[in-house]
Amino acid sequence: MSRCLLVSNRLPVAFNSTLNIFTPSSGGLVSAIKGLDSSKVGFDFEWMGIMTDDVDVEKINSLRTTPVGNLPSHPIIVPKKKYDLYYNEYSNNVLWPLLHYERSMVHNSQDGWEAYKEVNQLVADAIVQEARDDDTIWVHDFQLFLVPGLVKDKRPNLKLGFFLHIPFPSSEIFRELPQRKEIISSLIRCDLVGFHDLSYLNHFRSSVQRVLGEIPSNDRMWGVYPISIDSQHFLDLRNKPETLEFIHKYKENKKEMKWILGVDRLDYIKGLLLKLQTFKEFLKRFPEERGKVQLVQIVIPSRTEVPEYQDLKQQIEQLVSSINGQYGTPAYTPIHYLYHSVSEAELSALYQLSEVLHIGSRRDGMNLVSLEYIMSQTEEEPGVVLLSEFTGAHSTLSYAVSINPWNIKDTVIKLREALHHPLSKRKEEIGAMRDFLTHYNSSDWAKVFLRDLVREPVVTDTTL
Ligand code: UDP
Repeated sequence: MSRCLLVSNRLPVAFNSTLNIFTPSSGGLVSAIKGLDSSKVGFDFEWMGIMTDDVDVEKINSLRTTPVGNLPSHPIIVPKKKYDLYYNEYSNNVLWPLLHYERSMVHNSQDGWEAYKEVNQLVADAIVQEARDDDTIWVHDFQLFLVPGLVKDKRPNLKLGFFLHIPFPSSEIFRELPQRKEIISSLIRCDLVGFHDLSYLNHFRSSVQRVLGEIPSNDRMWGVYPISIDSQHFLDLRNKPETLEFIHKYKENKKEMKWILGVDRLDYIKGLLLKLQTFKEFLKRFPEERGKVQLVQIVIPSRTEVPEYQDLKQQIEQLVSSINGQYGTPAYTPIHYLYHSVSEAELSALYQLSEVLHIGSRRDGMNLVSLEYIMSQTEEEPGVVLLSEFTGAHSTLSYAVSINPWNIKDTVIKLREALHHPLSKRKEEIGAMRDFLTHYNSSDWAKVFLRDLVREPVVTDTTL
């Protein structure tokens, strides 16, 4: 089997300094890749990613011989200070907000950009050194935008694909980026660039046109590949003893209460304040639902050292507390707010027990939580997904209830309808989405992308 080098910002491992060992880590890309079946996809995968030099270098190098998790890995060592500038100052403070349409959060930084270039160069150098001529290179996400161009400069014949896991915004936004030309010029060198959604691809195409003045002839090698999940894993998780224990424990407290579930990383893109305002309006508009419906909101801690994220956390907690204060009684707490991660088993139990999943993202590249919820539903009592139209998943999940999270009045009505949606309809809708996800899981996603990447381009005579 030929080799595919997966290249991402971090290796999927975290260093536990107390135990002095590496442990496998999680995340959107990791969960997608974890579900890959090499024999099904037709490649042997190896992982390349950054490790910062605050961990003992010898320890890092041990990863080359003793992989953590199931894939051989190639750590790329980057000085911690340089990494912080590249990752925090440019990737997270410039690219992340701009590509999610949050222009007021963008803090342009020349030092950040310089570090971004240097780190992308280090990653490209490592690929150039490691890759054999018949390897396939698959670079992931916005932290590594410059890598394709830098690799192609040295190894033009290497097959190289790039997948963007976040939205590509309208060219009217993208063109505000001071470094737009460098980024576009790198991406067009790829043999294949993939996006979650057709709108992202169209925005990319018009950005290329606006920034470079023309569309290059390889534009057929840009495509739409919505990511998926390890569907079977979520099906199996439903009946694990640990999951059943959580279900048993929660059912005792829940009784006849209906749950609206939210599972979001702490981030402004997730629309958490809008979601809380919507729930507040729901309780005001439908007094008969008070005491019968609870919002269970899990907020996964993220970027805890960044002031904007600390502010957001504070605003969320103030709003939760004011809603609970206004509508709570000694017997009823409207919002259960959890600011911590939960285990897979607990998550599966919460997915199964909740009547509605509410995804109110302002922008979201894909949103895997909505897919996981669908695969976790039981045949007997499936729930309903309320899904922001500003997520990539919106195009995939055609039977979800579409919401514009900014339209609170309309979302409140849809929330009420979802809570009273007839069982036969729920079975039909969740069933259809589950069928789709069963036949299109994360292995299929990778398989289709890699199939198109290695396929010889169709040459057409453009003079005709
Ligand atoms: N998740 C997690 N910890 C939790 C709850 C959920 O890591 O306590 C996982 C969840 O199962 C999902 C991922 O976090 O796979 C979130 O992915 P999504 O695409 O929804 O959002 P992202 O955080 O990548 O923007």
